[in-house]
Amino acid sequence: MVNQPSFVLWFTGLSGSGKTTIANELYTCFKNRHLPCHRLDGDHLRRTLCKDLGFSKADRTANLERAAFVANLLSQHGIVVLATFITPYEIQRRMLRKTIDHYIEIYVNAPLSVCEARDVKGLYKKAREKKISHFTGLSDDFDVPVSSDIELKTDRMSAKACANAVLQYLCGRQLITPDQAPFKNESTSSV
Ligand code: ADP
Repeated sequence: MVNQPSFVLWFTGLSGSGKTTIANELYTCFKNRHLPCHRLDGDHLRRTLCKDLGFSKADRTANLERAAFVANLLSQHGIVVLATFITPYEIQRRMLRKTIDHYIEIYVNAPLSVCEARDVKGLYKKAREKKISHFTGLSDDFDVPVSSDIELKTDRMSAKACANAVLQYLCGRQLITPDQAPFKNESTSSV
């Protein structure tokens, strides 16, 4: 696997928990080391491949099924996939684990209050004002993941430390080599 890495890092967590930030750190790191990789992002897919879908339970699941299909294709061709989707329900994560050959689930965990205080895209404010319905964490459920491979507490660790924890995990499973883990000297407990 070290010579031809092909795995899917699937980031699940509330809006504002840090999925995009950590995936981008890792993407830069992989690119710098000439590891073929691709970012699959929920917002981007919703503007393109999934623009016909809304936020009902059925549509959220269809959105993830399409994303899983693309992720699997890419990883079958030796491309590391960094997929950032809220993925709110455990049943969806179970579907992903079944559908995607080399699925690694990363729970990006920050308390709702922290995510809301960050409010990176102003969505929590809009959801509180009832301008958005079915908003995960406020007016729609987020099931706490029960079988994640990695959990990152982003209210306690810096984004780089979180990325480092993922790299260490991948090294441990021999999916990347230690020289592909550039943050190895950084503490994983710094904020
Ligand atoms: P998401 O993709 O989950 O919606 P984003 O990555 O867009 O979340 O936003 C997370 C915000 O939290 C960013 O402003 C980021 O700088 C901040 N942040 C603070 N600590 C961390 C951390 N440890 N990991 C990731 N993001 C963090």
